[in-house]
Amino acid sequence: MNKKKDIRALSKEELRNFFIGNNDKAFRGNQVYEWLWHKAAHSFEDMTNLSKETREMLDENFVINHVQVDAMQRSSDGTIKNAIKLHDGLIVESVLIPTETRTTACVSSQVGCSLDCKFCATARLKRMRNLNPDEIYDQVVAIDKQSRLYHNHKLSNIVFMGMGEPLMNYNNVLKAIEKITSPEGLGMAARRITVSTSGVPRMIRKLADDEVRFNLAVSLHSAIDEVRTSIMPFNTRFPLKDLRESLEYWYEKTKRKITYEYVVWNGINDRKEDIDALVSFCKYLPCKVNLIEYNPIDDGEFQQASARALNNYISNLEMHDIVVNVRRSRGKDIDAACGQLANKS
Ligand code: SAH
Repeated sequence: MNKKKDIRALSKEELRNFFIGNNDKAFRGNQVYEWLWHKAAHSFEDMTNLSKETREMLDENFVINHVQVDAMQRSSDGTIKNAIKLHDGLIVESVLIPTETRTTACVSSQVGCSLDCKFCATARLKRMRNLNPDEIYDQVVAIDKQSRLYHNHKLSNIVFMGMGEPLMNYNNVLKAIEKITSPEGLGMAARRITVSTSGVPRMIRKLADDEVRFNLAVSLHSAIDEVRTSIMPFNTRFPLKDLRESLEYWYEKTKRKITYEYVVWNGINDRKEDIDALVSFCKYLPCKVNLIEYNPIDDGEFQQASARALNNYISNLEMHDIVVNVRRSRGKDIDAACGQLANKS
């Protein structure tokens, strides 16, 4: 049996202590840490500023579990969907979304998802396991490479809108973001990162207490409990009042605007009272609304509402000075759009 430890589970301090314990210098730990994160090395052999003995010693004690791009699909609109194979053979999906001025990575936080949103393909997979910090980090590294290769510039933004509920894998997501933003990792600015949650109030409060610097988006889809519960059943556990209060707490502490993600469906949330409820919900704290185009996951009960219904939403929100954007979906032809990530291939 392979007893070797995943070296990237160690903090920098632990690495330094490992070398001290092996009668070596602590700074050796810094060198290895830089190889593992900043340079994203895949093997100890690559660590050319270490002696052969040191590399062999590391190889005897540790493994570097790294992810592999198992399959890559390119959409006609330039979107790239990657099937990312983890060290235990499980697959998650990560997407590169280019626009004229920037490239965005959409990354996964779990294999599958424990939530049960009726309109989302990932929900059908159930939750198989949480991703480790390095597995989240590696997705970003892989997509950054593609951004440089196909678009001649580094990755500009990251959204946690792939598979899984990031706040149900809180510690690992925060550890990954710490590495992504650290100069010892990828050195990206936290304000270019958005974590999207279905809305777990206790964890939203924790984010505020932890004084995180990234952005928060909430998949709202309805501001009426009854409706929201019918499409996102976990809403019974985390009802809108609790969600709202946690968001007020977030705003008080961070002073950062929330983004509400919202899909309008035929016969589900396209009535006047649905719009009124959203307008009222938006009044509680500074926010903006992203109306997302629905990406069908089968020919079932969910259908994108009419342009008229959408326009009703837009005009009502704007009338109340609420910022609203319409988000056209990307990568639809390769099932890479929101809610379509489900390892189809
Ligand atoms: N669990 C997190 C992040 C993953 S989902 C969350 O719920 O926010 C990313 C976004 O895609 C969410 O806003 C989600 O509601 C939306 N989404 C899910 N299925 C979709 C679909 N079929 N069409 C359009 N958007 C969808």
